[in-house]
Amino acid sequence: MVIDPLSQRLLNGAGLTPASQGRGPVVLMYHSITSGDSAPDSRWAVSEKSFREQLRLLKSEGWHTVCVHDLEQRKALTPKSVVITFDDGFADNYENGLAHLLTIGFKATWFVVSGDVGGVSRWRDNDAPQRPMLNGTQLREMAAAGMEIGAHTRTHARLIELDQSTIDDEVRGSRQDLEDMLGHPVTSFAYPYGRFNEASIEAVRRAGFRVACTTRTGWLGSEPDPLRVRRVAVFANDDLSTFARKIVFADTNVSWSRMARYVTSRITSRLVGG
Ligand SMILES: [Zn+2]
Repeated sequence: MVIDPLSQRLLNGAGLTPASQGRGPVVLMYHSITSGDSAPDSRWAVSEKSFREQLRLLKSEGWHTVCVHDLEQRKALTPKSVVITFDDGFADNYENGLAHLLTIGFKATWFVVSGDVGGVSRWRDNDAPQRPMLNGTQLREMAAAGMEIGAHTRTHARLIELDQSTIDDEVRGSRQDLEDMLGHPVTSFAYPYGRFNEASIEAVRRAGFRVACTTRTGWLGSEPDPLRVRRVAVFANDDLSTFARKIVFADTNVSWSRMARYVTSRITSRLVGG
C-alpha cells in the first residue's frame, strides 16, 4: 500500500505547519477491527490490514502515541503526538488490533460499555451488527500492557435523553464497574453516539472523570474544555493517503476539493499578509 506523493508531502510537514502548531494532537477514533483484509461489515469498522498499515505509517514517520488521560496535562505532547481511541470495547480489537499496537510500541485508549463486558453489544445501532465484547481478563491484560481503559456508560446510553439520576447511574456506574474489574482508577470517558449536553458534561464531572471525548471533529487545541475533546473518525474505506490527510488536517472531510480550498485560503492569507 502506497501513499500518494502529495499526501506524503503534507504528512512530512504535519505537526510542524502553522495549521497544526500548538493545536495537536489529533485524537483518532476507531470502533471494530475486522479480521485480515476482508472488507469491513460497517462504515465504522476498519480491516486489520488497514489498521496495521496506518500504525506502520505513523511509526515510520516518527509519530508516537499518548493515552487520553495524558491529555489533561498537555505537557507531554510533542508536535508528532497522536492519540488512538477505540469506542465500545469490541472483542475483535483484542483479536485483530492489540498485537499490532504492541509490536509497534504504541498505546491506545478503550472506551468500554461496562454492562456488556464479556457479552455481546446489546444496544441498537443503525448500520453496525451485534458483536462480541471484550471480557474482564482481556481488559486487565490490556491495562497491564500499558493500554488505558476508559468508560462509555453501562448500556451505551443516549445521555441527553435521560433524567439526571439515570445519567448518573450510567456515568458513575460505568466508572465503578470498570474500577472494580481493573483495580485501578478510571478517569477517561467517551459520550455514546457523541451526544452530550450540559447535564451530561456535569454528570461526567461529578463522577470524577478528568477527560471526556466527543465525536466533534478537530484538533485537541481547538477546544479548551477537557470534557469536550474532539476526535477524528477513521472509516472502513479510508485508504492510506486519506488517513495521512486526516492526521495532517484533523478533519474527517479530507477530499481533494476541500484540500484545494484550504491551500487557496493559505495562499490568500499569505498574500494579504495574514
Ligand atoms: Zn459507542
